[in-house]
Amino acid sequence: MSTATTSALPRRGADWLLEPTAAEDVFTPARLSDEHRLIAQTATEFVEKEILPAVDRLETKDWDLARTLVKRAGDLGLLGTDVPEAFGGIDLDKAASIVVGEAIGGNASFATTFGAQTGLAIVPILCFGTEAQQNKYLPGIIAGDLIGAYCLSESGSGSDALSARASATREPDGTWVLNGEKMWITNGGFADVYIVFAQVDGKQFSTFIVERSFPGVSHGKEEHKMGLHGSSTTPVLLQNARVPAENLLGEIGKGHKIAFNVLNYGRFKLAGMCSGGAKFVIREAAKYATTRQQFGQPIASFGAIRHKLAEMTARAYGVESMLYRATGLIDETIARGGGTSAAALAALEEFAIEASLLKVASSEMLDYVLDENVQIHGGNGFVHDYPAERHYRDARVNRIFEGTNEINRLLVPGMLIKRALKGGVPVIAAARRLQDELLSPPTAAAGGGTSPAELVSGTVAGMKKAALMVLGLAMQTYGEALEQHQEVLMLASDIMMDTFMAESALLRAEQSAASGAAGAGLQADAAAVLTHDAGLRTDAAARTAIQAMTSGDTQRTMLAALRRLLKVTPVDTIAARGRLANAIVERKAYLFQ
Ligand SMILES: Cc1cc2nc3c(=O)[nH]c(=O)nc-3n(C[C@H](O)[C@H](O)[C@H](O)COP(=O)(O)OP(=O)(O)OC[C@H]3O[C@@H](n4cnc5c(N)ncnc54)[C@H](O)[C@@H]3O)c2cc1C
Repeated sequence: MSTATTSALPRRGADWLLEPTAAEDVFTPARLSDEHRLIAQTATEFVEKEILPAVDRLETKDWDLARTLVKRAGDLGLLGTDVPEAFGGIDLDKAASIVVGEAIGGNASFATTFGAQTGLAIVPILCFGTEAQQNKYLPGIIAGDLIGAYCLSESGSGSDALSARASATREPDGTWVLNGEKMWITNGGFADVYIVFAQVDGKQFSTFIVERSFPGVSHGKEEHKMGLHGSSTTPVLLQNARVPAENLLGEIGKGHKIAFNVLNYGRFKLAGMCSGGAKFVIREAAKYATTRQQFGQPIASFGAIRHKLAEMTARAYGVESMLYRATGLIDETIARGGGTSAAALAALEEFAIEASLLKVASSEMLDYVLDENVQIHGGNGFVHDYPAERHYRDARVNRIFEGTNEINRLLVPGMLIKRALKGGVPVIAAARRLQDELLSPPTAAAGGGTSPAELVSGTVAGMKKAALMVLGLAMQTYGEALEQHQEVLMLASDIMMDTFMAESALLRAEQSAASGAAGAGLQADAAAVLTHDAGLRTDAAARTAIQAMTSGDTQRTMLAALRRLLKVTPVDTIAARGRLANAIVERKAYLFQ
């Protein structure tokens, strides 16, 4: 299956910060193929008919049922969407696994079980396993006969995962003996196969495929969690666990490569689930708001509630737009690389910055949507009889796992600068050119119109310059000590996230208008609302960063330069949100799928 992007040139990760992108080159949900739509429909029907009716039982920790549902997902082909047919997969592209992930996001607990199975257990074996390991484990995991889990974290090492203390020593006959305790392991209570990270000889971080049936392997008690009660989370105990020599995964001392690559993909998949979860809940919120009457009218008629429905929709549209754009870039890069697992790994690494941005943007968007859903439900939002409170609790962990949002925010400028120094996307040279531009007389300002194309060349162009200005100033001010200035790095990261989101939404809206699609006007409204507010946030973030790094005349000059570079085009966002709200109330659903 080919992904429907049409870029003439290979794109690099984060090159959108410097290079323009044509609207017709962006992958969007409108470009999903019939095959994508078919698998999405299969997944949606599976969730509606089999997962949602099972939620109450899953919440009582009925792991036999969870196992049966994973098996059903396997029977439907949902566990191996992007895995070669030789292992029982259906060999589609990453866009296919994103549409499936969006559908599965309708229930967070099952989505977590599903995510550990499809991303965390399959990917390490598929990308790093020997042929014998792949043949032994993948068919069972992809069919749903074997349940997988991923054991990286320990009580003393979560974010700092590479400092794990679990140990692996080799016996004279080659058998590995593993000792240690892994913490917070999804599917821990009923998995058959664990991907385990441990230090060989105390210092070589390595990976092993460990079966539950091996001597010395067990799991601890279920954690009492804030949410996700329908997903198993336990410690996994390794007490002189005996692991055959052939179950070392990849090379000794190269476990970090497996861990980081799996996380790259996991972040994309998590973004898909958050995006799908938000759209699912927007439907719930719209239905409730149009039904619930107060003061003799539906609460959806009140401006305060209409604002919420429109804002929830606009933010979900922003994440969905960046998600599909990034997925298209990855699929295109994989296709250019020959479609192999090695090409997939390289593409995921190339777009690791986008994966981190998506992880943060999607999890924070979802928490906003779910919080407003509780608010729209009023008292009913706080009680167990309605799903709003469960959604709210279940989602909170998305900002914690797959790398916390702090770690992901820090990774973004860190990766960008490291790559620039190694000859990647030349942000450092661009930041220097920007300084020259500031010394030259002002050029004519962009038109200030509010169409998607005009906002790209107006507000978004200014946001990109603000990003370069903050990054350039930070490198100049702190030099090699930059990584110790996390407050500034987080601001730079937020500016990049808002920029990628606003541009992705605008390009999608422009593409939609060019194709004459019904609803293009509403897409333009959602993109304009997002861009306007993102532009204002960027202005505030850039000011905060500049004020931290400069003083006196330099500060006055830099702040004046920011005013010159970033002019946020005025948009009547109240009117635009009003038009979105009218459509949401009429359709009682998310507007753009
Ligand atoms: C429900 C659930 C399921 C999970 N499933 C799995 C699983 O299947 N497999 C697995 O291996 N793990 C799993 N985890 C563990 C999860 O990945 C970790 O909890 C996560 O990586 C954070 O680690 P930590 O809890 O040790 O927090 P810490 O690393 O202690 O972080 C605490 C706080 O400090 C911040 N912080 C830490 N270091 C820095 C830094 N350098 N700079 C700035 N801020 C920093 C963090 O962002 C966070 O806000 C799961 C966790 C939960 C709750």
